[in-house]
Amino acid sequence: MQPVTTPGRWFDGRSATPHPVVLRLGARLEIAGPEVRRDWSLIDLRAGDAPAPPLRLGIAGDPGQVEVMDETFALVLAARCPDLRKRPEGTGGTLRLVLGSLAVGMAVLLAALFGMPAAAGLLAPLVPAGVEARLGAVVEGQVLDLLGDPQPCTDPAGRAALDRLVARLVAGRGLPAGLGVTVRRHGTANALTLPGARVVVLSDLIARARSADEFAGVLAHELGHVAVRDPTRALIQGSGTSFLLSLVLGDLTGSTVIVALGQAVLAAGYSRDAERAADAYSVDAVTRAGGDGAALAAILERIAADDVDDDPAFLRSHPFTRERAATIRTLAGPGTGTRRILGEAEWTALRGICPGAGETPGTRPPGRDRPRRRA
Ligand SMILES: [Zn+2]
Repeated sequence: MQPVTTPGRWFDGRSATPHPVVLRLGARLEIAGPEVRRDWSLIDLRAGDAPAPPLRLGIAGDPGQVEVMDETFALVLAARCPDLRKRPEGTGGTLRLVLGSLAVGMAVLLAALFGMPAAAGLLAPLVPAGVEARLGAVVEGQVLDLLGDPQPCTDPAGRAALDRLVARLVAGRGLPAGLGVTVRRHGTANALTLPGARVVVLSDLIARARSADEFAGVLAHELGHVAVRDPTRALIQGSGTSFLLSLVLGDLTGSTVIVALGQAVLAAGYSRDAERAADAYSVDAVTRAGGDGAALAAILERIAADDVDDDPAFLRSHPFTRERAATIRTLAGPGTGTRRILGEAEWTALRGICPGAGETPGTRPPGRDRPRRRA
């Protein structure tokens, strides 16, 4: 194990004056400067509450603390110090650390044996629900940031109609209890599924749906991703070891690792198999709820065709859209076109969930900056 060194700032606990020091991390953490010399056991080391960087370190019984700016050093330190994030009053941190270390060990092994996609598939179900929920909350914040902080749409009648639609689609399907579907005002026809059973619908999707069944088809497709935890799988795969390190660090907020997570969600697409499975889930859910399972095919084709107009790169995935649409129609069977999942009044209410959304000017971002389609 090679020692690692980095500059740091020493605070003696009496004044706010920082003293320059050098930290040397080997079997122990040595701190050396003109006025200070410490040799701390890694077992005793504890991180302060402040988000890293800077990472603030100390041990019980020593008023002095040292601050580290280097992120790599902080990550190496976290990997070597078992109790770095342990809180004196609880065991939650330790438990999370054990689970996290377990996950990292497994991931490294699995990634070596099968490659990252397989490792992600095997790991996703092992992420504890509580961790996944926190992760979902953090990632949602990041994703909304990246989308320019779109406002939530909360018209009460629209919200009630959406809740009824969701209830109809999930009835008897055993989806996670924390399922949350929110609508945000945004000029992109898209829906995102995030870890922790969070579905974010962007309002242009509702505006461009020609029937409740089309919208329900996309929504149910997202629920299909939720049902098999595709977002968590994609996140592990997309962010790789960063995600796993964040589990070890146990501090899902406040680490710069998290910034990468939000981007990973937007950048990582699901595999074609995952998309086909979500399509099949949607057809089944919409059909059982009394709707037109084939309507999903129509909205997919329409949105893909529009994208081709302003984003030639999207052509590449167009053959796949056609193939998906054909499969969806086959699965739905003939003569479904007259089925309606919502009454006309309910669909009108749902379309009003973002009052004035139609007048939102030019919120549609240019093609190259647009998050890749997840639906
Ligand atoms: Zn999808």
